[in-house]
Amino acid sequence: MFHKHRFGQLVAFGVVAICCARAFAQPILFPTPLSPRLANYDISVRLDTKNRLLHGSETLTWFNKSGDTITELQFHLYLNAFRNSQSTFMKESGGTSRGNEIDPEGWGFSEVNKISLASGEDLTARMEFIHPDDDNAEDKTVFRLPLPKPLRPLDSIIVRLDFTAKLPQPPFARTGAKEEYFFVGQWFPKIGVYIDGKWNCHQFHANSEFFADYGVYNVHITVPEKNIVGATGLLVEKKTNADGTATHFYHAEDVHDFAWTTSPEYVEFTGEVQDVKIRVLMQPDHADQGLRHVEAAKTAVECFQNWYGDYPYPNLTVVDPRRGAFGSGGMEYPTLITAGTFYGMPAGLRFVENVIIHEFGHNFWYHLLASNEFEESWMDEGINTYTEMQIMNDKYGPDGDMLDFLGVKINTGQLHRLRYLFNANYDPTVRPAWGYYSGGSYGSNSYSKPGMLLTTLHNYLGQETMLKVMRTYVERWRFKHPQTRDFVNVANEVSGQDLNWFFDQALFSNAVLDYSVDRVFTRALKKGEGYDFDLSTAPPDSTMTSGKSEKVKTGDSVEAKGKPKLYESGINIRRLGAFKFPVEVVATFENGEKVRETWDGQELWKKLRYTKPTKLVSATVDPEQKIMLDVNFTNNSKAVEPSGLGLDKLSARWLFWMQFLLDQPEFINVLTAITSLF
Ligand SMILES: [Zn+2]
Repeated sequence: MFHKHRFGQLVAFGVVAICCARAFAQPILFPTPLSPRLANYDISVRLDTKNRLLHGSETLTWFNKSGDTITELQFHLYLNAFRNSQSTFMKESGGTSRGNEIDPEGWGFSEVNKISLASGEDLTARMEFIHPDDDNAEDKTVFRLPLPKPLRPLDSIIVRLDFTAKLPQPPFARTGAKEEYFFVGQWFPKIGVYIDGKWNCHQFHANSEFFADYGVYNVHITVPEKNIVGATGLLVEKKTNADGTATHFYHAEDVHDFAWTTSPEYVEFTGEVQDVKIRVLMQPDHADQGLRHVEAAKTAVECFQNWYGDYPYPNLTVVDPRRGAFGSGGMEYPTLITAGTFYGMPAGLRFVENVIIHEFGHNFWYHLLASNEFEESWMDEGINTYTEMQIMNDKYGPDGDMLDFLGVKINTGQLHRLRYLFNANYDPTVRPAWGYYSGGSYGSNSYSKPGMLLTTLHNYLGQETMLKVMRTYVERWRFKHPQTRDFVNVANEVSGQDLNWFFDQALFSNAVLDYSVDRVFTRALKKGEGYDFDLSTAPPDSTMTSGKSEKVKTGDSVEAKGKPKLYESGINIRRLGAFKFPVEVVATFENGEKVRETWDGQELWKKLRYTKPTKLVSATVDPEQKIMLDVNFTNNSKAVEPSGLGLDKLSARWLFWMQFLLDQPEFINVLTAITSLF
């Protein structure tokens, strides 16, 4: 952690170095690189606010650490997703993203004007658009660049690109302009990732985020002089120009993306927690929520560092999008996140806290670990949903961590569970982002279902073990692009168990988990009839019969001899889904006795039988609702008398709110809009 304390000196040194010798003017943040710095960018960009154009020149230094001789490079031009209605993004989305429609006047694009080698050799004519995912010839979000000379292993290449980009208006799919507010993401030509012997450079899809290699970024941003700028990394220098503009020089190390924002209207708030400096850029009409944003950011940094590991960067910037620019809200970039609020947001509606905790969480799962969001979105959004639920619940829960207002209490986990329930079995969790049945299934499988399955695992392993799993995963895989099997391997190793049975069902199948109490009964044990019957040979206190008809004896023998009066009680549990998971069952008796049993859940049903001097009142499977993957909690309980006694309080309240919410016609739309923001 020492680098954080020393950073001030280092930046000061960097600034001095820049003043004295402009060449190689580059501050040092991490004397020992944290990541393999394969993709390094020096970019100068000038914003034409009137036409929302970016004029950029970019020098990319890329290292071939693959061991292969490489004959071409591949690049993303993400903004071309908004070029016209024929792009893959627009065809898939129908022009709508995260609840916003593209404005007919608001198209954007990215144009490479010239691409050359450091030697000056012009390669522009070699550029060729490719469509690795869908053969859509109209899509211009990926191009290949055949090299004049192959690039040998361990060699590096310097490529210079001059580009012009136009930002969508209003902001659409995370990036764009609104009046004098600009949020600039996915804006520069960006090299793909060379991995497993090939380029991994997917087109920009409606339901996908990103994948990139780490590097060092030096970015000079020129905007009107009156403007305030926020960006990935740290401000090294601000220089005023003769033409009424100013150039802001930002430097970032060991990051895999760079985003920035500018507006003349931002109101700044600052704070600090655990050596991380927090800067919040608020819209003037939300300025009264500035400190609330700072507090939420502090909570996020603190919880993540305490629970999941070190956030090695010295700062975090939180951006509040302008009114009418919500398309740029709720998004993550390295050391820079966007939130979202509205005027008068009540304290009991913790949308601000939730979105900041969520977006900061990405600085772990998307940024520090940098998994492939195109192909395995659950590893970012899904793990992030789990950690968001944990932190919300710990800080503001357990009752109403998301909404606690006018007597209405809703938890973050309940909202995610609702989305999961609507999409439980369309797809296996792990798929390419554009390969899901629908946007709803992508959302559920990328966010909500992983949130449910990791919470289920958390409850199965226990908090201590799960925290160890998460911490080990972060420690071992930071800066290394982990894949699904890497997470599974860490969970197996740290827990000391082979959990493949769980992950195979939860991640690689669409199997539905549903256990139910099918039948309960209790009746007075009759005197024996017929030959040779004697109550002193009454059956044991409890027996379990499974679908495989093995008999298990549990509990102690009853006192016998028919006094006091004996009752025979029974519970039939069924596994209604294909997903097999061990379950606990609690039988509650009239005298207050509770008997807890565990069933491995493998067969289709299990019968529990008891002979006791007291009547069975109710039975509940998974009484603490630890198995969040269970698609139906309402069948988990049954009372002998149809009095509803068996339904525990929690599920009764949950059921009430479910029904209430589902009766609101606008609810699903609002829910979709909110949850798709993240
Ligand atoms: Zn997210």
